[in-house]
Amino acid sequence: YAKQAGGNEVRFFLPGMLTEVEQRFVLQQAISQALAQQQFCLFYQPQLNHAGQVVGVEALIRWQHPERGMIAPAYFIPLAEESEQIEAIGRWVLQQGCQQLQGWQRDPLLAGLSVSINISVRQFYQPDFVDLLTGLLRYYQVNPAQMTLELTESLVLRDLDDAVHRMQQLKALGVRFAMDDFGTGYSSLSYLSRLPFDEVKIDQYFVRQSEHGEKTRDWAIVEAIIGIANTFGMALVAEGVETEAQHQLLLASGCHYFQGYLFARPLAVADFEHWLRRR
Ligand code: C2E
Ligand code: MG
Ligand code: MG
Ligand code: MG
Repeated sequence: YAKQAGGNEVRFFLPGMLTEVEQRFVLQQAISQALAQQQFCLFYQPQLNHAGQVVGVEALIRWQHPERGMIAPAYFIPLAEESEQIEAIGRWVLQQGCQQLQGWQRDPLLAGLSVSINISVRQFYQPDFVDLLTGLLRYYQVNPAQMTLELTESLVLRDLDDAVHRMQQLKALGVRFAMDDFGTGYSSLSYLSRLPFDEVKIDQYFVRQSEHGEKTRDWAIVEAIIGIANTFGMALVAEGVETEAQHQLLLASGCHYFQGYLFARPLAVADFEHWLRRR
């Protein structure tokens, strides 16, 4: 999949006569340049509780390219993940997220929000990742309980015991963990029981199956995930909620938190703050 995305993305980025290897190289150069020239930015998508209160945001990276405009992460994160580039991008995202949490502390409307950050597997296993996060939390005086690290199931591909060990090191700092995109990929309920996640994000694939609130066959999977997560004491977030019917069905099925275009798209920080004040 990463290869495929890599191919699409370079074609998008650089239509022309370069070979694929050359195109990938050029895109990698452009990513390095983008980091140096501060062309990345974080957008924030609200997460709401059952009562409709905004409890947090997910930070989602965007590339504001001087000529091509806004570039979505699907066009550069998969390629970056094939090399150490993702570690540099990941450091920048963590630093920005911490700085934002600190900035919001002065405002009562924003001070209680949690920020969820997507962490690539490669970044998670970086030897100095624990030190990096420790340093950032301290420097920006962030309450670690307001930071959630989102990991995907692919982290267990390496070694389950390694994953548990590393998560425990990070949990000792006080941060939370969310399993992202749950229910697709390498999902296994046994992983969920063995890894210390605080939160499970139900993949938008399942939410999409029920546009009008109908209980499709796949909805049984959603209900099973909700049941298991409740048993393990994990919070549930539904991703990709686009219709009120989906929202109501999820509420009725016992889902706790919601994220999706129904409420808001990922927004630039000023737009997010404005959106929140107007509510
Ligand atoms: P994700 O972490 O699963 O993020 C959710 C994606 O779903 C976001 O796409 C978001 O814009 C989109 N989304 C939210 N609500 C809806 C909805 O109602 N309908 C639909 N159709 N989509 C919705 P986005 O921002 O393009 O990010 C895509 C993926 O890129 C993320 O998936 C995540 O895996 C990765 N990503 C984003 N930012 C970062 C980052 O800072 N670091 C890393 N390592 N990966 C990132
Ligand atoms: Mg995520
Ligand atoms: Mg997700
Ligand atoms: Mg995803």
